Amino acid sequence: MERADFLIIGGGVAGLSAAARLARYGRTILLEAEEALGYHSSGRSVSFSHYGIGTAPVRALTAYSRPHFAPPLGRIFPTLYFADHASLPLLDALEADMAALSAEIRTLDAAQMTALFPPLRTGPGGAVRGLLDPTGLKLDADLILQSFAREVRAAGGSVLTGRRVAAVEPGWTVRTEAGETFSAPVLVNAAGAWADRVASLAGVAPLGLQPKRRTIIVVDAPADARIDTWPFALSAARDFYVQPEAGRLLVSPVDEVPDEPGDAQPEDYDIALAADRLERYTSIKVARIAHRWAGLRTFTADRIPKAGFAEDASGFFWLAGQGGYGFQTAPAMAEIAETLITGTAWPKGLAELGVGVEQVAPGRAAIGLA
Ligand SMILES: Cc1cc2nc3c(=O)[nH]c(=O)nc-3n(C[C@H](O)[C@H](O)[C@H](O)COP(=O)(O)OP(=O)(O)OC[C@H]3O[C@@H](n4cnc5c(N)ncnc54)[C@H](O)[C@@H]3O)c2cc1C
Repeated sequence: MERADFLIIGGGVAGLSAAARLARYGRTILLEAEEALGYHSSGRSVSFSHYGIGTAPVRALTAYSRPHFAPPLGRIFPTLYFADHASLPLLDALEADMAALSAEIRTLDAAQMTALFPPLRTGPGGAVRGLLDPTGLKLDADLILQSFAREVRAAGGSVLTGRRVAAVEPGWTVRTEAGETFSAPVLVNAAGAWADRVASLAGVAPLGLQPKRRTIIVVDAPADARIDTWPFALSAARDFYVQPEAGRLLVSPVDEVPDEPGDAQPEDYDIALAADRLERYTSIKVARIAHRWAGLRTFTADRIPKAGFAEDASGFFWLAGQGGYGFQTAPAMAEIAETLITGTAWPKGLAELGVGVEQVAPGRAAIGLA
């Protein structure tokens, strides 16, 4: 039996970021089921940080997390939200939400949008107005995961892969599928889409988490295009985005299909939808889909990620429900976990942004408050 002060289940961005903070206070052991860190959601993300997604608390958690993503973890990457006539009210709502956090948001007309993103279809039936956020951040997911893991190890903690937790005894002692045991008075459940299942192993009431599948296709860029200057372009209707990356284009139909925890795979229908929307919103023709994948985004009922001790099990800490913003909110959520587990003061900056302990408390998700 290996003993620690903090045991963490899950080697995605949530578990690793929390482990990096907790390792400063005591012996920390992180257990990841797969042979590689970030095999599930955290390795399938497009890893962007922007204010165009999520509820007000999520945007506040995003704002608080930004300073963590200095280069090389993040780099400035403009974000363009575009709207046709029908979706103009959505663009207006987005502008009001985003303007509260970024002073640099600008409205663009059709000509300004095509100057920035030439293939965008404008005019009748196409985009008529846009919103440019020049402060978007493209994050380096792998570097972020590895740097958190390095922090854990540098503080004397362990990050162990190939350790699938199969049994959990209150107190807390966990046993892996291979029969190894680990124990600690605090158990952090950062098992992503599986977090409710881990809670069930521990006899803790589930939060009612819902994993939802999202699909990405990678297509070749038009031969003559200078795509390195293109923004991350998203429809205000929230049914499409395209992002240039490494000479190709990542495209999503922004699907949210309820799914089970597991190794998510893209469905033909969503792949076709992604290609169709790229051709509908832009003049780009999809000649070949070079690559495709799907990943799970796991939501709580109120779409606010949760961090806090379970009300029904002493020492069982939830860190779950990161939805589609687990990277951009990870530094804030990890600091919240540190605060609540070690009993330090609530971060002043979070309070100033309007985030209090009650918003992220897991009890709120369990009773389905929206
Ligand atoms: C297509 C796509 C695009 C996205 N784009 C963005 C974006 O632009 N910006 C952003 O911030 N977020 C984005 N996200 C969301 C982000 O990826 C997730 O919110 C985040 O990765 C969730 O992290 P996690 O650590 O909770 O989950 P995971 O990364 O899934 O980690 C949970 C881990 O727990 C492990 N585990 C489960 N059960 C056990 C067990 N019994 N024993 C041991 N280990 C176990 C799993 O193997 C898994 O590795 C996107 C997601 C997808 C799918």
